[in-house]
Amino acid sequence: MTFTDQQKILIVDDAIINIQVLNELLKGEYRVFFATRGSEALDIATTALPDLIMLDIMMPDMDGYDICRKLKADPLLKEIPVIFITAMSQEQDEVLGLELGAVDYITKPFNLSLVRLRVRNQLELKRQRDILERLSLMDGLTGLPNRRAFDECFDREWRRAWRKGWDLSLIMLDIDYFKAYNDTYGHIAGDDCLKRIGSALAATLGRGGDFIARYGGEEFICVLPNTDTAGATAMGEKLRTMVEELQIPHQTSPISPSVTISLGVAHVTPDKGVTPESLIEQADAMLYSAKRDGRNRVASLPG
Ligand code: GH3
Ligand code: MG
Ligand code: MG
Repeated sequence: MTFTDQQKILIVDDAIINIQVLNELLKGEYRVFFATRGSEALDIATTALPDLIMLDIMMPDMDGYDICRKLKADPLLKEIPVIFITAMSQEQDEVLGLELGAVDYITKPFNLSLVRLRVRNQLELKRQRDILERLSLMDGLTGLPNRRAFDECFDREWRRAWRKGWDLSLIMLDIDYFKAYNDTYGHIAGDDCLKRIGSALAATLGRGGDFIARYGGEEFICVLPNTDTAGATAMGEKLRTMVEELQIPHQTSPISPSVTISLGVAHVTPDKGVTPESLIEQADAMLYSAKRDGRNRVASLPG
């Protein structure tokens, strides 16, 4: 196994001695990171994206339960498995830990070979989930095609448009003030909102060859073969209206009582002078301009 294949473990414990013991146990097989405080743990989790987090519960400032809640509320971090490793051995402590979404609960003093085996099991499961995710073409939350599916579709449509001299358009769209939505209604409601918008968008993009994917967090992207700027802009407007008509309340949006989206349209007739990447960049630039001009609108270049 090469260094970069090595799975990463973040150990969070305010007692250095515990970190040292676990580090000795695990460093041969894994890359080990550690933190002694909650805020530090969240920072390292965000930058290192470990494959497993081992969390002590009793710590000053933020306790392990709070850290776990914060991890599970962050879309970037919520899939990282958490093992509590703690001196709190009451049944109700363990119940709470598992209720918060931890995959395992180990009590101190711990048996080293058992810890190693339980860690190994969780990391093997994580590795298999990662492989499946890499192979998958579907976004787990919305059920729509994911970014990888978009890449494949876009590549295929680009080559087809080039061969046939067809128009090709992209629409890149992003939910407005979605951070405020999550902050107001919570992440579960945020996920729900994403699902509703995703299926409304997919239902609106009726025409046979049209394609929509979840591009990232709260961004979606549509591929419209054989469609010029006017056609794509009209479709963008239809999608914008559709989302507005869902009337999902958003009381902290500065621009509307309900959830809205901004959209950027880009069009090309593929030839040697342009790259697929430049079309994506153009759609992104148009989306940015829709945001800058006030959001809840479609932006496209004339022509
Ligand atoms: P703007 O109008 O400029 O797009 O503002 P914004 O708040 O929508 O944009 P920003 O990029 O600041 O925030 C995006 C937010 O979307 C932050 C992130 O937590 C949230 N988000 C991304 N993916 C998910 C997800 O899968 N579920 C939930 N609930 N929230 C998500
Ligand atoms: Mg947004
Ligand atoms: Mg965004």
